[in-house]
Amino acid sequence: MQIPSLKSRIISTLLWIILSVFITSPVYAEQVVVYSARIEQLIKPMFDAFTQRTGIKVRYTTDNEGALMARLQAEGKNTPADMLITVDAGNLWAASQAGLLRPFDSQILKTNIPEHLRAPDDEWFGLSIRARTIIYNTEKVDPADLSTYEDLADPKWKNRLCLRTSKKVYNQSLVAMMIAEHGEAETEKIVKGWVANLATDPLSDDTRAMEFVAAGRCDLTVVNTYYYGRLMQKDPNLPLGIFWPNQKNGGVHINVSGAGLTRYGKNQQAAEALLEFLSSISAQNLFADVNMEYPVNPNIVPDPVVAAWGKFKQNHINLTKAGELQAEAVKLMDRVGYR
Ligand code: FE
Repeated sequence: MQIPSLKSRIISTLLWIILSVFITSPVYAEQVVVYSARIEQLIKPMFDAFTQRTGIKVRYTTDNEGALMARLQAEGKNTPADMLITVDAGNLWAASQAGLLRPFDSQILKTNIPEHLRAPDDEWFGLSIRARTIIYNTEKVDPADLSTYEDLADPKWKNRLCLRTSKKVYNQSLVAMMIAEHGEAETEKIVKGWVANLATDPLSDDTRAMEFVAAGRCDLTVVNTYYYGRLMQKDPNLPLGIFWPNQKNGGVHINVSGAGLTRYGKNQQAAEALLEFLSSISAQNLFADVNMEYPVNPNIVPDPVVAAWGKFKQNHINLTKAGELQAEAVKLMDRVGYR
């Protein structure tokens, strides 16, 4: 019998060590786990593009933002989530305030996303813009009579205005941003004027408000433009027109859908790569176009359907104010009887 040489014994021992490392520690593919308040059809196309480019898998859970934030809170350090995606700066701000997010100082994000659309402390970033603008009945309103959000408080619109309920964060953010721009006393006067002009009780959602306008139950309302896009795609003959207010002063009220990295995410580098990818030219159109929104990067042209609504000047006050002044906005709307 041949005695194995020292060299071959060393080699076989080394092979055994290497083999046992592979056997005892399964090799995980790189992945990112996302909690998303945006529904699957609005996020999957970007995640697929990211996986195709990097090989990193994206797993996701969708739910409403309240449930996702409560879950992050409860899971604490044990959360599997690396990223939170949600709509409205008010929600992103609330997640940041609750300590659920961590800052990410990225030159790529700072270059791709204008300053007013991201948190000054780098804890969240806008990824698509939604514009909250005036929609009017084209058979009943001459657009030359329209001018500003503030003007909707003028008695000439008495019994002609429909509004969505103040319980929705979209209107809370709108009023919060008006407080940032005009101060509380002036904003209270304006919102009080809106309430005095209401033709109906506040409505459950933006689409319903436009249906009331189209049916002639009121003449105008304020909604996010993607709801207008969806409704007009379903019924292009509706007598509804889009108007961009405040073009001579503060600009159109905008908000974002966006994302932040979770404080206790485990796949930090992969999550950072995904967030930067979502702000890139190749993902921006996907992210905005799937919901008829606007890219945050001003150098990227929106979807043709959206572009056809015309260019507008947007408000440039930092959207952090939508969160900071949200409680004040809610109290103000309650005081003036905006339900
Ligand atoms: Fe919405």
